[in-house]
Amino acid sequence: NYKFNETLLTIPPSASLAVSEKAKRLKAEGIDVITLATGEPDFDTPDAARIAGIAGIAGGHTHYNAALGLPALRQRIARKLCEENGIDASEENIILTPGGKYAVYEAIRTFITPGKAEEVMILNPAWVSYGPIVMAAGGIPVNVELSFETHYKITREALDSAVSKQTRAVIVNYPNNPTGCILSQEEAEILADFALAHDLILISDEIYERITYDKKQSVSLASLPQIADRVITLNGFSKAAAMTGWRLGYACAPKEVIGKMSILSQHTISCLSQFSMEAALAALDCQEDIARMVASYDARRSFFVKGLNDIPGVTCLVPQGAFYAWAKVDLAGKDSFEIADYLLDEARVAVVPGDSYGKGGSRCIRMSFATAEADLREALDRMRAAICK
Ligand code: PLP
Repeated sequence: NYKFNETLLTIPPSASLAVSEKAKRLKAEGIDVITLATGEPDFDTPDAARIAGIAGIAGGHTHYNAALGLPALRQRIARKLCEENGIDASEENIILTPGGKYAVYEAIRTFITPGKAEEVMILNPAWVSYGPIVMAAGGIPVNVELSFETHYKITREALDSAVSKQTRAVIVNYPNNPTGCILSQEEAEILADFALAHDLILISDEIYERITYDKKQSVSLASLPQIADRVITLNGFSKAAAMTGWRLGYACAPKEVIGKMSILSQHTISCLSQFSMEAALAALDCQEDIARMVASYDARRSFFVKGLNDIPGVTCLVPQGAFYAWAKVDLAGKDSFEIADYLLDEARVAVVPGDSYGKGGSRCIRMSFATAEADLREALDRMRAAICK
């Protein structure tokens, strides 16, 4: 009879992992399921990054190193943020983390004191892990509802309706998982005014920032000078460079904040593996590989989103970034969990129910188009047949 951490007992397991597990079980039974549920590039890590990682291992770079990360990598990331994102950064503003996920945890941990009922606002729909990470870090997640009909445009009214005296930070994620929306300059200004008015930290998860379409770019919040000192920019190598298994993320923040995050790193993870970071350094120069991957997602986005919108009762937003199609499905009044179950049972297609992304996801489903083209085409046929039945 264990006495577990009481917070942990209230945290639900990951919804997208649950769908993937169910799909895997069906596959193991010999049922032909197409999985559109996982959020992972279907490409291998670019050669130059792999070669750099192998060279690191061969060269014996397999020991502890700095908790903040390799200086050369921190410098190179700072340069990237200056050149590509308009963020004024140097080496002292960067800390490496084992994956973007841990950067989210560390950023929240740095600002939230457990037991003080401090709140963190999360713009919905939102990646399934933000709420649990806030809870695990001792904070209270507060969901901010945005609406499908306005393409989840950020409004000051929506932000004002969720803020309280206990609010410490807001988590913002653009390009967005699951909706594919990107952040406009106008929305960035709204967030900036709001953060200044309530003295809030903005945690900006920009992990999909390299994956955008139609020559558009998502605004990096820290590029707005009036809030640069209150934005923690999070990014990583999992999505853009197809390096999910290398566990490479980073945060960019004022030096003082990085110092506090580093204390957490020193006592929880010590450091990242050096050869992983050497691979990351090489990945930052793999622009052509990344452009090729993005072009391929773009081609798949075009026909997949069109195919979804051609199915009666399905309305799919045109994603401006990331590799997810987010669609509202009108199917005999079914909610998103029922729709996902129906599609798995009838079409043998695994999708993630929209309600797992918080408010604003009812009757929606998320599908990853970082999936083989043939599977996407087959999934469209099957979903159309099941929905039109
Ligand atoms: N942030 C968002 C919005 C994500 O979708 C993910 C992964 O699914 C992550 C962060 C974490 O990525 P990683 O920990 O692999 O860097």
